[in-house]
Amino acid sequence: HTSKLPNVGTTIFSTMSKLANDHQAINLSQGFPDFGGDQKLTDLVCKAMNSGYNQYAPMAGNLELREAIAKKINLLYDTDYHPENEITVTAGATQAIFTIITTFINPGDEVIIFRPAYDSYEPAITLNGGKTVSIQLKAPNFSVDWEEVKSKVTHRTKMIIVNTPHNPSGTVFSKEDMMQLEEITNDTNIIVLSDEVYEHMIFDDEKHQSACLFPGLKARSFVVASFCKTFHNTGWRVGYCCAPKTLMDEFMKVHQFNVFCIHHPTQKGIADYMQEPNHYLGLPAFYQQKRDLFLSLIKDSRFKFTASKGTYFQVLDYSEITQEYDLDFAKRLTMESGIASIPLSVFNSNNLDNKVLRFCFAKEDDTLKRAADVLNGI
Ligand code: GLN
Repeated sequence: HTSKLPNVGTTIFSTMSKLANDHQAINLSQGFPDFGGDQKLTDLVCKAMNSGYNQYAPMAGNLELREAIAKKINLLYDTDYHPENEITVTAGATQAIFTIITTFINPGDEVIIFRPAYDSYEPAITLNGGKTVSIQLKAPNFSVDWEEVKSKVTHRTKMIIVNTPHNPSGTVFSKEDMMQLEEITNDTNIIVLSDEVYEHMIFDDEKHQSACLFPGLKARSFVVASFCKTFHNTGWRVGYCCAPKTLMDEFMKVHQFNVFCIHHPTQKGIADYMQEPNHYLGLPAFYQQKRDLFLSLIKDSRFKFTASKGTYFQVLDYSEITQEYDLDFAKRLTMESGIASIPLSVFNSNNLDNKVLRFCFAKEDDTLKRAADVLNGI
């Protein structure tokens, strides 16, 4: 039998991680740290498990965690979401994204996404009968042409998905970008899905421009965030989304029959951990040091780059080395040179290939040094 996604293969993240494991390559492909999170947090999750937090959480999530999230958002962005009905804890940001799209997209609805786009957006749109409308970010800085966005908005546009800091390019939206988005969606029924899972990984004193900072955007947006990224535990699958009550009420209709709720002890452990605030405030400096180390080590290599402004990814242009198709080159680097990365063409329409690979620098300094040794020899 054919599924509803006949043209979709295995996600590049599984493909490249498996290839890296099979060839014992340094794995800078799938985005996850090769170091652990805070032991205190792990202890608190174990404690929650040992003290009875083992039955269903409320559907929207453990209330203490939702309260902690509301407090965090207030502290960082000076705006309020009501913990009772405007915040939902999800199985990673991926589930939030899938459920938001499933809740609102009907057959024929158009969804605008920016390419290169994270690979889970389009299949979710397709499964719901929606039509993906792609807008290519402009080289070399992956910037948005807002006039083009304006020209692609139609009466069928139901949703616009934005992602800042941006995976895979490592660029960030400016305040002006968000204001353009706010203006374009003004007086429309367009829902904005703002994927902000890298909100705490932003460098060079840039400020993260959350959709919730712009009143016109906040009123129509789901802001999606991730504890996996923030607390270095990508396997825990804990994320959340926030939206005004009227939007969240609709989301809950689907969420309740999708997962009902997620792993309760992890939620309680994170809630307790967040009572001592500001664990995330050190992240920009922490990851900037890793980015700078990585880039200083490969500055004399044949790869070309501009420094990543956010996320824990760095894209490297290899056009001086070879004209190979990026997926082929990424596989060959993994198998022959022992370093795994993510080709960018998989995130583009028609697999447009700009000869760029994405490398994850959420790694021990020693891993980055070994990786740089390999890259310098290519
Ligand atoms: N977000 C991660 C990345 O971009 C991958 C997540 C996944 O493998 N599903 O590398």
